[in-house]
Amino acid sequence: MPTLPVIQNSVVSSLGGEIMDTKISVVEKGAIARVGALFVEAFGHSPALVVSDGNTLGIGGFALIQSLEQKGIQVRQCCFAALPQVYADEYSIERVRHSLAQDASIAVVLGSGTLNDITKRASFEVDRPYMVVATAPSVDGYTSYGAAVSIRGFKQTLPCNAPTAVVADTNILCAAPMPMIGAGFGDCMAKFTAGADWIIADQMGLQPIREDVWTMVQTPLRVVYAEYKDIANRDPRAVGLLFDALSASGFAMQVMHDSRPASGAEHLISHIWEMEHLEMGGLPVSHGFKVAVGTLAMSFLYEMLPRMDFSSIMKKPAQSWEERQQSIEQAFSFAPALLEQILPISKSKFLSGDALISRRRAIQIALPHMLRRCTVQLPPFRELRQVMAEVGCPLTYMDINTTKANFLHAIRAAQMIRNRYTLLDLLYEAGFLEEALGAFDLGVY
Ligand SMILES: [Zn+2]
Repeated sequence: MPTLPVIQNSVVSSLGGEIMDTKISVVEKGAIARVGALFVEAFGHSPALVVSDGNTLGIGGFALIQSLEQKGIQVRQCCFAALPQVYADEYSIERVRHSLAQDASIAVVLGSGTLNDITKRASFEVDRPYMVVATAPSVDGYTSYGAAVSIRGFKQTLPCNAPTAVVADTNILCAAPMPMIGAGFGDCMAKFTAGADWIIADQMGLQPIREDVWTMVQTPLRVVYAEYKDIANRDPRAVGLLFDALSASGFAMQVMHDSRPASGAEHLISHIWEMEHLEMGGLPVSHGFKVAVGTLAMSFLYEMLPRMDFSSIMKKPAQSWEERQQSIEQAFSFAPALLEQILPISKSKFLSGDALISRRRAIQIALPHMLRRCTVQLPPFRELRQVMAEVGCPLTYMDINTTKANFLHAIRAAQMIRNRYTLLDLLYEAGFLEEALGAFDLGVY
C-alpha cells in the first residue's frame, strides 16, 4: 500500500513521494515569497525559466522573480501575450521547448490550466522536471500527469509528468476572476458523479474501487461542498481548500496512473464539447464550465435512475454492430477523422447476443446495490444545482452557449468514446439510454 500524501499546506516529499512525481505541494497565504526556497529544495541552483503570459505576469511575476533571485537563481523569461489568449497547441509548446533547450533551465510556470499544460508538455519533451505557481483554483490538471493539448486541431491528452513542485498563494487564488473559481468548483463537484460512476463499475465487477485513492478524492470534495458559501465569498482559507481538493484529485490520478478517480461521464461529455471547440464570446468555454454542465446532467440522470422500470430489461431492443457503427459515424460527422480512433474503442465495448444477455442480467442483480450506494454518494440534484449556482457555475447547456439538441448529442457521443464504464454505458447496454435522455424534457432539469 502506498503512503498517501497529506495535501493541506504540506510538503509531500515524505508522504508518497516514491510513487508520485510531485514532491512538494504548498498552499498558503503569501506562498509566492517562498517560491525561491522551494525551487532550491527541489532543483538546487539550476537556472529557472519563468513561463507566463501578459495577465499572469502582472499578478505575481514581480514577487516570483524576486523570490527566485534572492536565492541566487538565474532567471530567464518566456512570456506569451495577454491577447489573443494563448492556446495549448504545438506552436506554444515548441516556443517553450525551444526556450528551455537554450540552457539547463527548469521551467517555473506562473498561470493556470493552459500555461500549465504547455509547460508540462514542453518540459517532458526535453526530459526535465518543472514547477507550477498557480494563479487560479480553476482546474484539477495542475497536479495530474498528462497535458490536454490540441495538435493539428485535435484535442488530446499527451503523456507527460506531473510537476515536481506546486505552489499556490491563497491571496492570489482568491483574487482570481470569479468564473475561474466557478470553473474549479465545477471540476471539483464532478467528483460526485465520477465517484458514482466508479461505484457502478465496482458493483458490476468491472473496475474495483481502491479505497485509499477513493478517500483521497472524496474526503476533500465533501469539505469543499460544505464550504461553498465561503468559496463564493472568496475567503482565502476556503479557496485554499478548493485548491487542495483539486490537487488531491491530481495526486489520486498520479497514484492510480488512471483518471478514473477524478473523471466519469461528466468529463466524457465535456470532451465532446472540447472536440467541437465550444466557444462563448469568441473564447473557448473553460474545462470547468463544460464539466459543471456535464456534472449536473449526470446528477439529474442519477436522480432519474430509481424511477426507471428495469423489469423490462431483458425485452429491450438492442442495436446490431452495423446500426451502432452508423450511429457513431453520424454522431462524429463533425470530425470524421476522429472515427479512426473512436470506432475501435466502441467496438471493443460493444456487446451483443449472449454477452449482452448476461450483462443485462448482471445489471438487474447489481441495480439495487448501486442505487443504495449512489443515494449515499450523491447530493440531491436540486441542492447541488443551487450550491453550484451560488459559486458561479453554469447550470445548463444554455449557460455555455449551446443548444438542447447539441447537449443531448454530447451525452450520446460521450458514451461512444472511452473504455470507462459509466452510468451512460449501463443505460445503453440496458436499452434505456434514449428513455433516460427523454427525462430532460420533463421540465425539472
Ligand atoms: Zn477535470
